[in-house]
Amino acid sequence: MKPSRFRYVKPASLHEAFDVLEQFGDGARVLAGGQSLLAGLGMRLAAPEVLMDINGIEGLSGIRVEGDEVVIGALTRHVEVLNSPIVAQHLPLVAEAITHVAHVAVRNRGTFGGSLAYADPAAELPACTVAHGGTVVVGGRQGRREVRADDFFLDIMQTALQPGELILEIRLPVQRPGQRHVFAELSRRHGDFALVGLAGLVTLEGARVAQARLVYFGCVSHPQIARATSAALLGCTLPLASFDEVQRAMLQDLDPDESPGMRAETKLELAAVVTRRHLNALQETH
Ligand SMILES: Cc1cc2nc3c(=O)[nH]c(=O)nc-3n(C[C@H](O)[C@H](O)[C@H](O)COP(=O)(O)OP(=O)(O)OC[C@H]3O[C@@H](n4cnc5c(N)ncnc54)[C@H](O)[C@@H]3O)c2cc1C
Repeated sequence: MKPSRFRYVKPASLHEAFDVLEQFGDGARVLAGGQSLLAGLGMRLAAPEVLMDINGIEGLSGIRVEGDEVVIGALTRHVEVLNSPIVAQHLPLVAEAITHVAHVAVRNRGTFGGSLAYADPAAELPACTVAHGGTVVVGGRQGRREVRADDFFLDIMQTALQPGELILEIRLPVQRPGQRHVFAELSRRHGDFALVGLAGLVTLEGARVAQARLVYFGCVSHPQIARATSAALLGCTLPLASFDEVQRAMLQDLDPDESPGMRAETKLELAAVVTRRHLNALQETH
C-alpha cells in the first residue's frame, strides 16, 4: 500500500515546528521514528496534508540525570535506552522492558516520545512511565507544561496532548533504595506487542509490601495504576500465603479485550499467573 500524497517539512527549531502545527492544525502529523506512523500512512489509516519531521530539532534527544530524576528526550531511540548505563543503573524496570520492545530494526529508529504519543495499550514504555510516577513534558506555542504520567494516558491511543503540542521529554524518578521492579510480558513471539504485561515498582520492608505501583499493559485500554490490585497488596508478606484477595482486586482493574486466538478470560488468568509468580519471585531476592 502507498500513502496518499503529503508535503514533507523538516523544521530546524521548536519555534518553526510550532509554526507548522499552528498553520496546518489537524492536517499536520509529527514524524519521529516513523515506525508506527508510516505503517499507518501506508494503510491509509491517516492522510495528513503535511508530515513534519522533528528529527532536525536539536535538544530533543539524550538521557541525563537531574537530581533524583532521569530525563529522556522525546527523540531518544529505543536502542539508546537499551544501551544506556544511566538507564541500567537508575531505571532497571525500563532497562528490562526495552528488551521486549520490537526488534533491532524498529529499535534503531523508534523513539521514547513516539511510543508515548502513540499510546498503544500493549506497549511497554507507557506502562513503565506510569509505574515510575513519571512526568511527560510537553511544549507548544503557549510554552511548556508538565503532565503526570498518571494523567497523560486517557484511553486507547488517546493522550492528554493538545493540538499544537509536542512531547519534549520524559522525566522518570530514579528507582529508590528499597524499591524493587517487577516486569513480566507474555507475547506470541519475543518482540511482539504484549498480550498480557505487568510493569511495577514495589517497596519492600523485609518481606512486607509497603507500597506498590502495578501497571498492566496488553490487557487494559490504557496504562494506569492498577489501584485495587496495588492496594490489596499493601501489608502482605511475600511470598503470598493466599492470592485470592489480590486476584479479586485484579478483576476491578483489568478489562481485557479478546485478541485473535485468545479470549478475555484467558488473559485475566494469565495476568493472575504472572502477577503471583513475579511478586513471589521478589521475595527470593530481597
Ligand atoms: C514490527 C513492529 C513491532 C513493534 N513492536 C513493538 C513492541 O513490541 N512494543 C512497543 O512498545 N512498540 C512496538 N512497536 C512500535 C515502536 O516502538 C515505535 O517506535 C513506537 O510506537 C512509535 O515511535 P516512533 O518514534 O516510531 O513514532 P512515529 O511512528 O514517528 O509516531 C507515532 C505517533 O506519535 C506521534 N509522535 C511521535 N513523536 C511525537 C512527539 N515527540 N510529540 C508528539 N507526537 C509525537 C506521531 O505524530 C504519530 O502519531 C513496533 C513497531 C513495529 C513496526
